[in-house]
Amino acid sequence: MAKIMAINAGSSSLKFQLLNMPDEEIITKGLVERIGLDGPKITIEVNGEKVSETTPIPDHSIAVKKLLDALTAHQIIDSLDEINGIGHRVVHGGEKFSDSVLIDDEVLEGIEEVSELAPLHNPANIVGIKAFKEILPNVPAVAVFDTAFHQTMPKEKYLYSVPYEYYEKYGIRKYGFHGTSHKYVSQRAAEMLEKPKEDLKIISCHIGNGASITAIDGGKSVDTSMGFTPLAGVTMGTRSGNIDPALIPFLMEKTGQTADEIISVLNKESGMLGLSEFSSDLRDIEEQAEEGNEKAQTALDIYTTRIHKYIGTYAASMNGLDAIVFTAGVGENSTTIREKVCKGLEFMGVQFDEKKNDVRGEESFINKEGSPVNILVVPTNEEVMIARDTVRLGQ
Ligand code: ADP
Repeated sequence: MAKIMAINAGSSSLKFQLLNMPDEEIITKGLVERIGLDGPKITIEVNGEKVSETTPIPDHSIAVKKLLDALTAHQIIDSLDEINGIGHRVVHGGEKFSDSVLIDDEVLEGIEEVSELAPLHNPANIVGIKAFKEILPNVPAVAVFDTAFHQTMPKEKYLYSVPYEYYEKYGIRKYGFHGTSHKYVSQRAAEMLEKPKEDLKIISCHIGNGASITAIDGGKSVDTSMGFTPLAGVTMGTRSGNIDPALIPFLMEKTGQTADEIISVLNKESGMLGLSEFSSDLRDIEEQAEEGNEKAQTALDIYTTRIHKYIGTYAASMNGLDAIVFTAGVGENSTTIREKVCKGLEFMGVQFDEKKNDVRGEESFINKEGSPVNILVVPTNEEVMIARDTVRLGQ
């Protein structure tokens, strides 16, 4: 049995899970918040109860130290020697990393090199890696990349139709994100269908605050809706998804904002928030739409029609479809969105079952008996994937 930490470090937060492997049992989980800001807080689950403490946490090293102290103080582990591996979520692996990797100095340099592709995320991930290395230098650490699963996309799917030299000089291409989640849910779907993943054509819909749709043929990602950045693809909580790029200079002229400001609007003030003008949260929007709010209804229609369109496109590009999988906050919980996305796909064998659709957050089939295309709800579990790869590469 091995105890593995799965870490997701952000610029001011650090999420963690401690798992027993290979059983994949969660021993504890928690969150360090507001690192380097006012009111820092560490929350850890002890015997199923959340225990929070407000304490000074000026940087990530202290965050890691406090988190490890909390594990022993609450007798979740007796000593730090019990930790056998640390798996770090890293957002961007560029073209350098097509799989998870055991972290050494060279790998760390590689992650730093691709940081210009994810300037908000990779530096925070690196800080997390270094903070653990400082305190547990001899424990194997593994990097698990959000982009890695999509490195199997063929060139005609990942290149943009722009001068080729931009790809060669600057690495401009589609990278895709949420890869760990798409990989996990597609593997679970194959297990639930009791078929080898090599024989399946799957479209996975990871729809939470961020959202992406992926075409998975024979267990490999062959196309995905996010692009060079996570701004592309379907309509999201606050992100616009695909737009005509010519909108940007037009809006700059009309509003007097800079390109950075417009991109910030597209990332933080668009999507469901921008369209509804009141919330990015699907629950609020569904509630308001039900009460007759027209903007909320239009926002919902736009949200589902974009996903619907990707499903049609990806089924065509794979020349077939065995299963649609829904995951993440919206995909796991919103019966309305699942129904709106699946309705109107009967022509290609998607037979949706309204009764079976009445599930939230649990693995289930929501298609009619005998439907040529299966429809599944699979709660995602990126931490388990991180822990599995840490065991695979770290032992
Ligand atoms: P993130 O991308 O931040 O990880 P999540 O996957 O946790 O996000 O998804 C969060 C979103 O899931 C919320 O903003 C909310 O819109 C949606 N959500 C959660 N529960 C429900 C529900 N019961 N019905 C509809 N939407 C839900």
